[in-house]
Amino acid sequence: MKIENIYQPTAENIARAAKAIKDGKLVSFPTDTVYGLGANVYNAQAVANIFKAKERPLFDPLISHIAEIDFLPEYAETDSRVMDLARHFWPGPLTFVLKRKDNNPSIDLACAGLGSLAVRMPNHPVALALIKHSGVPIVAPSANKFKTVSPTTAQHVQDSLGNKVDMILDGGACKIGVETTIIDLTGKQVTILRAGGLAKEDLEEFLGEKVLINDTSSSRPTAPGQLLKHYAPRLPLRINVEEDDVIMKIAK
Ligand code: AMP
Ligand code: MG
Repeated sequence: MKIENIYQPTAENIARAAKAIKDGKLVSFPTDTVYGLGANVYNAQAVANIFKAKERPLFDPLISHIAEIDFLPEYAETDSRVMDLARHFWPGPLTFVLKRKDNNPSIDLACAGLGSLAVRMPNHPVALALIKHSGVPIVAPSANKFKTVSPTTAQHVQDSLGNKVDMILDGGACKIGVETTIIDLTGKQVTILRAGGLAKEDLEEFLGEKVLINDTSSSRPTAPGQLLKHYAPRLPLRINVEEDDVIMKIAK
């Protein structure tokens, strides 16, 4: 059966997608990095449906997407360093981990119960229009099954998730194609938790100080997605295999 859930991002379809988000449905949309699978962060059932559709473990927290910098202090604990970074690098491929405000228990599931939250502003007109129209932060992990390659076209999303997503807004191919850089801003020193679309050097140049890289060998990572084992291949891996080695093995 042909699935008809890909829509051109016309004003009418963006309004329709925003209503779907408000109604607790799942909408996939293009961002500067990859296609996201979006839901209203305040709707726990919709957020649970994201984990279900992606087959993602509940302990792996999601990133909220916002469209206005001024909203940030309402959503999370901020200071001048946070706001300066936001003004300089947003919209763009940079995610902040910030302390949560204690007045928002409804986002517990999205934050996997942590005392911090991850937030960013994507640099894509369709994403920004959708978030603005929805009037809520949209949690949006990549719109694919857990541990598979992230989608950079609407067709990739449909191939991976099919009718588990209510609407897919087709904004063409994503420009960056890799995930965001995630920085932890809850401590004194800025720490990169995940390398991605923004270089460490760009952050250091702006901040005028060294940026740390999270020690993933720690037995107590700040988030489960950072465990060394997370992306480990299941099959034995050999690097630099020569064609001759393979032929010899077959001949034996
Ligand atoms: P993604 O799968 O690209 O949506 O990114 C989600 C990743 O962001 C998670 O796997 C974590 O590594 C990171 N993350 C999200 N929320 C937090 C948080 N509160 N603290 C630390 N890392 C977080
Ligand atoms: Mg992903």
